[in-house]
Amino acid sequence: MKKMYPVTKLACTLACAAMLAYAPAAFAEHAEAPAVPVKSAEATVKAAVNGNDQFTSHNDSHHFDAFQTGQTPTLTVVTCSDSRVHTQLFGMDPDNNIFVIRNIGNQVKTAEGSVDYGVRHLPTKILLILGHSSCGAIKAAMGDYSGESKGIKAELDTLKPVIAAGETSGELNARWSKNVERNVDYQVKAALELYKEKVQAKELTVVGAVYDFNDLYGKGRGKLVITNINGETTPNKIMDHPVLKELNRGEIVSHVGSLAPGL
Ligand SMILES: [Zn+2]
Repeated sequence: MKKMYPVTKLACTLACAAMLAYAPAAFAEHAEAPAVPVKSAEATVKAAVNGNDQFTSHNDSHHFDAFQTGQTPTLTVVTCSDSRVHTQLFGMDPDNNIFVIRNIGNQVKTAEGSVDYGVRHLPTKILLILGHSSCGAIKAAMGDYSGESKGIKAELDTLKPVIAAGETSGELNARWSKNVERNVDYQVKAALELYKEKVQAKELTVVGAVYDFNDLYGKGRGKLVITNINGETTPNKIMDHPVLKELNRGEIVSHVGSLAPGL
């Protein structure tokens, strides 16, 4: 039987492994995470290699025919490196369809070249900035991260304007969740500055959303909640945006929301 760790030890283990939980206590705030098996390094490599064998057995060589010499994705996503967030949330085959940039706190400016590639070179018509529930980067940026490495500090410093725009008092988890959304707004704003001409020419739509596996928006765990389209953050106005016109009203209502006023 695999060894199970208590929550406090698990939080510490995840902090070391994921490099995102700079403050393990930060993760304890939503600490209803079940204990999970902890794999050794050897078992982890074996799982990755065997998993790849399963992948190639389920996808014969024809799966790769369409993208032997180039890629044709339709969606650029800037999201967090967090291990709980993956493109499977979109329910579509990500291969050759989704161009993904990941970093702590789903930031645009710290990965500008990569985002440029998706938006200017491929180019995709949608740029999605995707934050997520209980983001460790946001939590860390709200606290004292002076003891972190130079690299981590540099990528948290760029979140300071987001934290400065939020409440300074009140219940921590509520402020944290709002700051996740504020960060999405902040990153959308940064993208709109970079790609102003493309947006004005209707060649690009910048969508901000939160992957809500905590069900903080009341739409259900795991829902993609759209909180911003081209800088518009009022839900009723987002709902009328033409980019959503192929969705029915029920689909729109269940995927548009807001916890915090827009920046
Ligand atoms: Zn995160």
